[in-house]
Amino acid sequence: MKYVVMIGDGMADYPLKELNDKTPLQTAHTPNMDYIASNGVNGQLKTIPSDMEPGSDVANMSIMGYNPQKYYTGRGPLEAASIGAELGDGEVAFRCNFITEQDGSLVDFNADHITTEEASELIETLNQSFYRFGKFYLGVSYRNLFVVEDHEMARLESTPPHDVVGEPIEEHLIQPADDERAKIINGLMVDSREILRNHPVNLKRVEKGKKLANMIWLWGQGPKPQMDPFKDKYGLKGATITGVDLIKGLGVYLGLTNVFVPGATGYYDTDYCGKAKYALKSLEDHDLVFIHVEAPDEAAHAGDVQEKIKAIERIDNRILGKLMDELPEYDDYSVSILPDHPTPIPLKTHIRDPVPYAMFSTGGISDDVDSYDEFKARKGSQGLKEGYRFMDNLLKYADP
Ligand SMILES: [Zn+2]
Repeated sequence: MKYVVMIGDGMADYPLKELNDKTPLQTAHTPNMDYIASNGVNGQLKTIPSDMEPGSDVANMSIMGYNPQKYYTGRGPLEAASIGAELGDGEVAFRCNFITEQDGSLVDFNADHITTEEASELIETLNQSFYRFGKFYLGVSYRNLFVVEDHEMARLESTPPHDVVGEPIEEHLIQPADDERAKIINGLMVDSREILRNHPVNLKRVEKGKKLANMIWLWGQGPKPQMDPFKDKYGLKGATITGVDLIKGLGVYLGLTNVFVPGATGYYDTDYCGKAKYALKSLEDHDLVFIHVEAPDEAAHAGDVQEKIKAIERIDNRILGKLMDELPEYDDYSVSILPDHPTPIPLKTHIRDPVPYAMFSTGGISDDVDSYDEFKARKGSQGLKEGYRFMDNLLKYADP
């Protein structure tokens, strides 16, 4: 049996006025998704536990079959894994953003999309100045890391910088403010201003009229998650295809093969056909592949309905279409389609509502649902399930 799990990030939505009260999934032309729904079984998944933030990392961890309430330790350790920074026992990884600070306020959470080359120079300087406290690692653009050898740092409360743009920095530093460890991390953030302000990188940015990368923001910290390898838990050799660091990081901890696809960008312009091609290739020596496409989520964050519909249709046509053509070379195969979480266009952000899923398998039963969308899935035979039950559900359905 070969398995494909197709994840369209943020695909699910609300009925929209501009689409005559239909959702983008209901509006888009998706013959392959509809084939999966009508020839397979349907249901709803609660991928985000009620007490957790609706992040893609949490949602994708659920879909891969691991309960985030038990295993999720933060964004930092997932990103560390994706850039090859292995965390030792007792180490804690913080996400380190370069931000723009002005008159005590957080003006830009990504420092005007600082380039990776510029970030590299700043990271080097930070490592020279702050080597006694921990180590900075270069990631991509404003998204970098800071690793400390002190597992107690994990319990501090930190704030995502994109949530507090325009607000006074003082009010959003690490809590509890009187904690000795919080004081250390807050000290690094505040002192970084002195070090970065007149850095050659920033002097050049002033000349170019760009906002300064004049402060670091440390957040999303945690130790490495302790998860059993996917192969041990589900008996399947798995692979992931994604342009997104957090999901690559999940793959690393689960022992999944992160398949490199040239042209997979994590944006609208991602190479859909390339993802299909590499998914098929990975199935030659793997049992299961998770294909993740970020584009519908990006379109929803931008509030762009047409771009979201286009992304859904490209997933259907260029990825699922190709797979449904080629997979019959295997006697038994299964294809599932789902989002990780809804990203409704009117809200431009993630929500924790359950997502619709459809799973098809050669030889598997089918229910009465005849097409794939948010509302039809509610009438499916699989009902509403906790997200981390998805893998069990899939195996039970496809390989009873
Ligand atoms: Zn997502």
